[in-house]
Amino acid sequence: MAPRGAAALKDALACIDRDELVELTRDLIRIPSVVRPGDPASTEAAVARHVEQWLGKHGLDLEVQEVAPGRPNVVAWLGESGNGPSLLLEGHTDVVTEGNPAEWTHAPFGAELVDGRIYGRGAADMKSGLAAAMVAAVAIKRSAAALNGRLVVGALVDEEGDMLGVKHLCTTAIGRGLSAAIICEPEQNELCLEQRGVVWARVAIHGRMAHGAMPEAGVNPITALASLLHEVPGLERRLRKLCRRSPHLRPPTVTPTIVRAPLQGVEQSNVIPSGARAILDVRLTPGPDEATVALEIDAACRAAMARCPGSTISWEAVNGFRLATRVERNEPLVRAMVAGVRQATGRRAVFGGVPGSTDGTILRMELGIPIVTCGPGNRQIPHQADEYVEVDELVDAAKIYVASALNFLR
Ligand SMILES: [Zn+2]
Repeated sequence: MAPRGAAALKDALACIDRDELVELTRDLIRIPSVVRPGDPASTEAAVARHVEQWLGKHGLDLEVQEVAPGRPNVVAWLGESGNGPSLLLEGHTDVVTEGNPAEWTHAPFGAELVDGRIYGRGAADMKSGLAAAMVAAVAIKRSAAALNGRLVVGALVDEEGDMLGVKHLCTTAIGRGLSAAIICEPEQNELCLEQRGVVWARVAIHGRMAHGAMPEAGVNPITALASLLHEVPGLERRLRKLCRRSPHLRPPTVTPTIVRAPLQGVEQSNVIPSGARAILDVRLTPGPDEATVALEIDAACRAAMARCPGSTISWEAVNGFRLATRVERNEPLVRAMVAGVRQATGRRAVFGGVPGSTDGTILRMELGIPIVTCGPGNRQIPHQADEYVEVDELVDAAKIYVASALNFLR
């Protein structure tokens, strides 16, 4: 008979091979997966192939989902979906640019192992979390523990871009069958029940072209843009009132990140352009819905227009709304993980929050399933030079995934 309960957990934890986990993490880092638009050779394809081969070699069932040319999701599983819930361990295969390699002490794709740390682009965000998820699933498979339901490992593309991978997963049978997900992003193994949301408001401002010496003959969109920027602190204050306060998340912020004018033609010092454009990066905490947030951004645009007669200001959300997410402490997944952290590490679970949005945002919004973000790596280190992960934290993560999965799929 397949082992259950405490015996199954002990067996499965014993099937985690520390050296194997370290080597897998280093192998994944050594395969660069920076997505460089216009270069078909710079995608997630090579690292996805490695994930597929590794999981296949260890006997997991899997499917490769071609999301876009050269950009495959790899989705593997063990256990049957018919007889219980389906838990996803989620990771992404893309990494952000290494930037200027001269700013790195350790080669960005060298995966150097020094004093208990693995260095490289993606060491934290998030080839370590992905490797820990893969090793956890294989450990459970090796231990032959009985699963009530299905454990799924998803290695998805494009998290750092438009999140095409997770959006695709949500349209597939295995995606639609999910009951809950652990997002293996670098959160120093804290249990993050909340994450901030984001809306990128692309604002279009129309005026009327005229000679710089005769501004009265035109409508200056740059003046209207300035009025809009003047509205930003007020917009931020109103959103802070609408959103819930959280001990783990910074309050909502509204940050202009791009301003542009003129939009066409050459730049000329004596020409008032006809249009201008701006992006507002709006970060949210849980609370208001899409319509409520949209009304506040509308109000800011209207107030700016009122101060610049003749101008029109409109906006749209780039890539839609990614609202803040939150799950409650009494969710079965949270309870499984609180117990899992203690069983795996002997320590109490620490709760935290995710400062940005992740693939988990899409899973929560599209599928309505509970998500908890928990993975190895310092929360501040992603996208920096000399990114690293602590090996001890990496191994703890794999153990936490094993214990949490066995608790959840008991
Ligand atoms: Zn990430």
